Amino acid sequence: MSKSIVYFIPYKQGEGNFNNLKRKIEKIFSLTKFLDKLNYGRKLAIKVHFGEEGNNNHLKPEYVRIIAELVAQKTIQPYLVETSTLYRGKRNNKKDHIQLAREHGFTLEDTLCLIEILDGNTGEGYYEVPINSPYTKKAKIAQKLRRYLYLINLAHFKGHLATGFGGVLKNLGMGLAAKGGKLDMHSSSHPFVNENKCSGCGICVDYCKEGAIKIHHLYAKIGPLCVGCAGCLAICPNQAIEFRWDQSTEILAKKVLEYAKAALLDRYALHFNFLINITSNCDCYPKTEEKIMEDIGILASFDPLACDQAGFDFTKKAITKLYSHLNYEEIFNFGEKIGLGKRDYELIEI
Ligand code: SF4
Ligand code: SF4
Repeated sequence: MSKSIVYFIPYKQGEGNFNNLKRKIEKIFSLTKFLDKLNYGRKLAIKVHFGEEGNNNHLKPEYVRIIAELVAQKTIQPYLVETSTLYRGKRNNKKDHIQLAREHGFTLEDTLCLIEILDGNTGEGYYEVPINSPYTKKAKIAQKLRRYLYLINLAHFKGHLATGFGGVLKNLGMGLAAKGGKLDMHSSSHPFVNENKCSGCGICVDYCKEGAIKIHHLYAKIGPLCVGCAGCLAICPNQAIEFRWDQSTEILAKKVLEYAKAALLDRYALHFNFLINITSNCDCYPKTEEKIMEDIGILASFDPLACDQAGFDFTKKAITKLYSHLNYEEIFNFGEKIGLGKRDYELIEI
């Protein structure tokens, strides 16, 4: 069986020659011929993570700009795309999320890209992708991703408390799921109302399109009509709507892979793992962290599984020391089994 190709640019942020990096990324596009296959006038999604409020570890806008300039040369409009988070904070709804992205430097001027939050105002918008996988039968993918046939996946590789690490697959699986999909991955139950916090204001009753919430004895109650879209989590002014983070981390990691597969279905995509500024926690963590190792560089591949496998191989010692609770072999094998890509890769240094 042939191996997947993973390109590798050795690079240390702040030390490397930025123009040289630009030339090398351009070379990856030339070798993969990714842009040659795009139809002029279409939209292209660049999936990034804008970073949590108070956390400056996210990928810097200048990397996005390198890619956007190359894409724009082909008369294709690149959009920075993201989805709302499940937990509370500025990235939980479209308006504040875009504002935070701009504060973190992801402006049109600096990136040449407009921003599109793909899953509605509060993460409620999704379409279902049937994948019939062991843990997920139908994935709830952010609704507006449907408009994009082309995708460049720009992931910041780092550690992650639940999944051990987050790279290109997590950027796709969790990052392109609507809020209801994120809920499905994290929890096996639907949201519930914490009566100690509920004032009975009825805002959630009016909001829920499924008519699943009723006021019962002065408190809101979520009934069987709930489809788990999770939109109401962001709506309640008292943060009374909660869910149980009850999914085992290994199943969560596998579900993320299933969702990555769903997000890629019928899409033409190229994946980049930036192994720079590697921290022990995700960019969702609300504070800037020290990096846990020297910068390594940038990986790129058409094969997202091989791209993450290579990222993991470079960082294995640190990641497994931090998060030893996961069976990484089993998780990667699962990814291969569901057809995400190959574990076996050939590393080509640029
Ligand atoms: S919006 Fe929140 S406080 Fe108001 S009724 Fe619903 S759960 Fe209770
Ligand atoms: S009650 Fe269920 S269906 Fe209604 S908004 Fe909340 S999660 Fe969505």
